[in-house]
Amino acid sequence: QPEVRDICCIGAGYVGGTTSAMMAFQNPHLKITVVDQDPIRIQKWNSKHLPILEPGLQDILRIARDGSNATTFFNEAVRTDFIDSMSSATFASSEYKTQGSEQKEQIFVQARQPNLFFSTDVSRAISDADIVLIAVDTPTKLRGFGAGRAADMTALEAVSREVATYARPGAIIVEKSTVPCRTAEMIRDTLRIHRPSLDFEVLSNPEFLAEGTAMTDLLNPSRVVIGCSQTPAGYRAADALASVYAPWVPQSRIVTMNIWSSELSKLVANAMLAQRISSINSISAICEATGADIDDVARSIGLDPRIGDKFLKSGVGFGGSCFKKDVLSLTYLAEGLGLPEVAGYWTQVLTVNDWQRARFVRRVIECLNGTLVGKKLTVLGYAFKKNTGDTRESPALECIKVLLDDTPKEIAVFDSCCDPEIVKEEIGRLLGDAVLRDSGGPVEVYSDAYRACLNSHAVLILTDCDEFQNSAPSKFPNVLPEAELSAPMDPRPFQRLEPTESQILSLQMYLSAMFSVHDPLQRFVAQPECEAGCQYCLEQDV
Ligand code: NAD
Repeated sequence: QPEVRDICCIGAGYVGGTTSAMMAFQNPHLKITVVDQDPIRIQKWNSKHLPILEPGLQDILRIARDGSNATTFFNEAVRTDFIDSMSSATFASSEYKTQGSEQKEQIFVQARQPNLFFSTDVSRAISDADIVLIAVDTPTKLRGFGAGRAADMTALEAVSREVATYARPGAIIVEKSTVPCRTAEMIRDTLRIHRPSLDFEVLSNPEFLAEGTAMTDLLNPSRVVIGCSQTPAGYRAADALASVYAPWVPQSRIVTMNIWSSELSKLVANAMLAQRISSINSISAICEATGADIDDVARSIGLDPRIGDKFLKSGVGFGGSCFKKDVLSLTYLAEGLGLPEVAGYWTQVLTVNDWQRARFVRRVIECLNGTLVGKKLTVLGYAFKKNTGDTRESPALECIKVLLDDTPKEIAVFDSCCDPEIVKEEIGRLLGDAVLRDSGGPVEVYSDAYRACLNSHAVLILTDCDEFQNSAPSKFPNVLPEAELSAPMDPRPFQRLEPTESQILSLQMYLSAMFSVHDPLQRFVAQPECEAGCQYCLEQDV
């Protein structure tokens, strides 16, 4: 099996950044360079103002990227048992486990020289690498043939050409992006055209992490799928990639298969998850019409081990950059294969998703006597789900778009994981600047949930964010226990909300989330803008 010492990951996004960080953390002996064409993204990765928000990511970066801070980190990590709970090769070694604290520190500091780097020098990183991971975006195509359905392969094709030009002989090329079936063949063809005298192995290694829990998903993956050509060279390449995961992923969870199965597995996994959400949402409409309780129905069916209890929460439907695009890609594939019934089946998943969101907005307007004129509505949660700042395909934005048609006085937006300035900029870009308060429009983005809710006629909770959970929602809005009244943040604005309790609760037919004043509602703290060369700011601050 080829020896692996150097890995390059092209694409410093959600997948490239987090996956590389985990690989570098678990393999101190490897050098991993993440490259991107976007210099601002790379600058952010090299600073403490990361371009993405993922719980646990900073901790991993402090070890793999900032090896020089290892001693400081070590003390904290030992204190919190963080290190001992990690199952990496270094820490799980018997040598390490039998050491006392001082020796542990020595081993730890020795092992933790920085081995994760972020750079814009794409060609150089490719030419140094034994393994090249491709983790660029593959969004839905917006124009031309297949628009609105097919995956846009522009970035992947461009990267394939660069890899074909610069990869060293024998380098293993790995698709991490989610791609249509047989994309590996396109990459292999590109390699053949540019370097006809060389044979490169192309593997498929789709990523199954979920945003918001990316680091724990990567630390404890349900499976690592590796698709390879069914040849001795293909198996050797798959073994080499498996060796990168071996320090922390049990052998039994590393699954090898042919490339097309691996590529298809990822599309199908996302389609099945999306399908469960649309299925339970379709049943929520029956519950509302009959008096059945959707949460009880979900609990009851979830107890059946053949069904399982995950992804059975009724809500405003799914958003995010992956589910819709991957279902579309699957339907496009099925149609291309002459399977219109299959395509029709999966298209319905998207139809129900849009219908559910429209139903929710209609219900909100009905609850407010059919008119929003002169009223303030508050949208809590703007990212597509909790614990992420990712706003791609945000259900909140779609709801806001429809609410605006009814000319409300104000739509107040708050999300503890999102920078208000970025949300404002995005709403302005997608819905037109005229909708923003700054231009005399109704939409205002707040950095404080209490101000966002002040004097609101309806509060729409559009993500499952923990801060919006309340163990006793029926107490909302004006019966707050004494203990909560003495919380550091003033809860009074909640008591002045105008809608009746029953109106608020009717919104909850879709969402069980509610407020808890115990949690700080201002997790997002605006960071001062980085100067160029932000590494310095990192060193000063730590
Ligand atoms: P992203 O948009 O966050 O990141 C992609 C990065 O690739 C960007 O920073 C972009 O600048 C860079 N890039 C594009 N073209 C490039 C080029 N020619 N050279 C160098 N860099 C280039 O995307 P993401 O969310 O990380 O998703 C990447 C892939 O992984 C997609 O195919 C997606 O479907 C898949 N995926 C995403 C998730 C998720 O939760 N986000 C989960 C599993 C799989």
